[in-house]
Amino acid sequence: MTFAFDNTWVRDLPGTYLAAQPAPAPAPELLMLNRGLAERLGLNPDWLQTEAAEMLSGNRLPAGAEPVAQAYAGHQFGGFSPQLGDGRALLLGEVVDAAGRRWDIQLKGSGRTPFSRGGDGKAAVGPMLREYVMGEAMAALGIPTTRALAVVATGAPVLREVELPGAVLARVAASHIRVGTFQFFAARGDQAQVRALADYTIARHFPDVAGADNPYAALFDQVIARQARLIAQWMGVGFIHGVMNTDNMALSGETIDYGPCAFMEGYAPGTVFSSIDHTGRYAYANQPLILGWNLARLAEALLPLFDADQDRAVDKANVLLEGIAGRYRAEWVAVMRGKLGLAGAEPDDGALADALLAAMADPGPSSGSSSGLGQGADWTLTFRRLAGAVGGDATGIAPLFADATALRAWLPRWQARLAPDAATRIRAANPAVIPRNHKVEEALAAATAGDLAPVKALVQAVSQPFEERESYMLPAPQGFGPHVTFCGT
Ligand code: AMP
Ligand code: MG
Repeated sequence: MTFAFDNTWVRDLPGTYLAAQPAPAPAPELLMLNRGLAERLGLNPDWLQTEAAEMLSGNRLPAGAEPVAQAYAGHQFGGFSPQLGDGRALLLGEVVDAAGRRWDIQLKGSGRTPFSRGGDGKAAVGPMLREYVMGEAMAALGIPTTRALAVVATGAPVLREVELPGAVLARVAASHIRVGTFQFFAARGDQAQVRALADYTIARHFPDVAGADNPYAALFDQVIARQARLIAQWMGVGFIHGVMNTDNMALSGETIDYGPCAFMEGYAPGTVFSSIDHTGRYAYANQPLILGWNLARLAEALLPLFDADQDRAVDKANVLLEGIAGRYRAEWVAVMRGKLGLAGAEPDDGALADALLAAMADPGPSSGSSSGLGQGADWTLTFRRLAGAVGGDATGIAPLFADATALRAWLPRWQARLAPDAATRIRAANPAVIPRNHKVEEALAAATAGDLAPVKALVQAVSQPFEERESYMLPAPQGFGPHVTFCGT
């Protein structure tokens, strides 16, 4: 048994990566293994259980692995870095599953590479388990995402503010082609490589556009479609990525790079968790705007491919870019129709959803509210409890609101639009369990101290998000305080 590697990136795209070897792990220990995902990759989970500590720490790579660090650039918080690249990750190769789908197998936290700059190339147990938990939650919610195959503790310490146990994450992704991958070569004026990357991306992710009149404009159009859908899905579950730099946006349409991400609890459009996002650039409600901003950067990189004539190329790009806001809105309204259990589609459905959000939002300190809640109605519980309000009974949902006046005015409007089986639909569209920040923190702190039971239980709970498990459903207790997440950890 081994990984059936077939490494098209290394074979077809020379010049886009540098070969590198993982650092040895002195005392590797398998912390988490994703047995279901292993099976999907055609691997025997029992075999991997015994091999993972050595193979997925990087100590003894599986046969056929060709480890490389991929080059990419990126706009980070709006500023362009012409060279980022895999500073602490290595692509081992690609595996094709039984359904014919190709997956990247990547190690993250496996030591320094030629792209490490000042960094140590390492990762700590806590953040790698966090990526595991978040990816499983998103996958179970039906949101495209990279996933963790395993987390292996290395037995070596990692120096952050304090010394932490080190770990390597084995990540499975549809690919690691980022907006920043195109930017890297476009910024160098390497048009041949931009074209090779675009051709590769079409072949791997968008084979249907190969025959289009203008395959590169069609590629861009399809990337917009996937990203608009993805961000609408994020918004639907209250997910805040936290670091939507262009190097963290994948052309596959998967959520990638779980750093400072977190799920919103009380609804507030300006919610930011990341300690480094001082201006709120990547706040919850800004994510659809950043979608457009990042895709404009992709268009710039692809521009010469759209048309040999620059003016015509710019016109083509602008037509597509101007469509993004409307396409996103249509995806968001579709997500909200599902969450609200509406029958069919009516032109006012977006306004109906907007009105609920306005009712949920934090009324602010001047409202005279005496609930003691610092934020708006809990995002996840509000939608879940709509199922109980279908027949007009607001006793479950109203207590989530500091002031339920606007909610009570909204409910009859909504009831007039409900599908016959609305309660069932609402329960199927709105999770009971998300990885709430206090549960994630609690589980990662325990794991860092050596107790994996809470993180395993958390993975179990977020993997069945539509099952009601009370202890995972409650908002953070008073005193948990404003949650802060950290990047590059
Ligand atoms: P991220 O914030 O994880 O998206 O990473 C941004 C860039 O910083 C990427 O080029 C990473 O490879 C690099 N990077 C992050 N952490 C480290 C580290 N500990 N050592 C080396 N490079 C890193
Ligand atoms: Mg990144």
